[in-house]
Amino acid sequence: MKSDLKLKGQSALVTGANSGIGKGIALALANDGANVAVNYVSNPEAAQAVVDEIKANGGNAICLQADVSNEAQVQEMFRIMCRSFGTIDILVNNAGLQKDSPFAEMSLADWQLVLNVNLTGQFLCAREAVREFLRRGIVPERSKAAGKIICISSVHEVIPWGGHVNYATSKGGVMMLMKSMAQELAPKKIRVNSIGPGAIQTPINRSAWETPEAMDKLLTLIPYQRIGQPEDIGNLAAWLASDEADYITGTTVFMDGGMTLYPGFSTNG
Ligand code: NAP
Repeated sequence: MKSDLKLKGQSALVTGANSGIGKGIALALANDGANVAVNYVSNPEAAQAVVDEIKANGGNAICLQADVSNEAQVQEMFRIMCRSFGTIDILVNNAGLQKDSPFAEMSLADWQLVLNVNLTGQFLCAREAVREFLRRGIVPERSKAAGKIICISSVHEVIPWGGHVNYATSKGGVMMLMKSMAQELAPKKIRVNSIGPGAIQTPINRSAWETPEAMDKLLTLIPYQRIGQPEDIGNLAAWLASDEADYITGTTVFMDGGMTLYPGFSTNG
């Protein structure tokens, strides 16, 4: 753990924290002194490994199983979180998935699954967190805010994505969920922001980076010429959750090596 702990004494829940970006965020928040609840749905061994890594580094963590799209499971997860750590100061809504297909072949089940996990899951978790933030209020020794929510969105909240219409729709929805919550809750001193990752090297997009040919093609979309890593997003999330970012609410911070800069126009102007 670092010596300058931006999140000392605070408690954080990171959904989908047994893999990829969520794992990177859980490790970064713990490294800044937060107690971390590592949510997962289907892979307890991977969640336990994240908890073990945090503890080995001097931090405090627990695993919590819940399907974020299931209201009763989310409510039970928050009950256990608050029993274990006393409260919640930071929610990172990260859990998400893709079910890709050409639009005309997209099944209703795949449409609903993606919307249920990626959008309704963020609503259900945010609602429970906000209820606890409002109940508890500001604890000045821990943070200037009564609570912080970070939604993991995507560059696809603004870049349309053929073949992934359900996914892009879910992230567009996350953008308005985040902004509308931020507007309503700012007077209550609750900050709500999103991170919009570009291409980050995780299992969700393995086919886009696992061969040299795929990686070369991917890099044509990234002016900064490297794929992102979960630690990149973790470091940003830890800062965004801290009081150093106390005046930021209602914003998506894109972390994408320039993917949202329309790189196809760089030599065609
Ligand atoms: P990942 O490695 O596949 O991780 C996805 C995580 O979500 C896993 O921990 C998974 O848990 C969890 N999850 C899936 N369904 C869930 C449910 N119903 N309830 C609770 N947890 C659930 O993918 P990732 O790349 O880290 O993605 C994390 C987030 O970043 C997603 O929201 C994704 O849309 C977003 N994102 C990723 C990229 C990228 O390039 N990688 C870019 C933009 C945005 P289990 O393992 O237990 O199933």
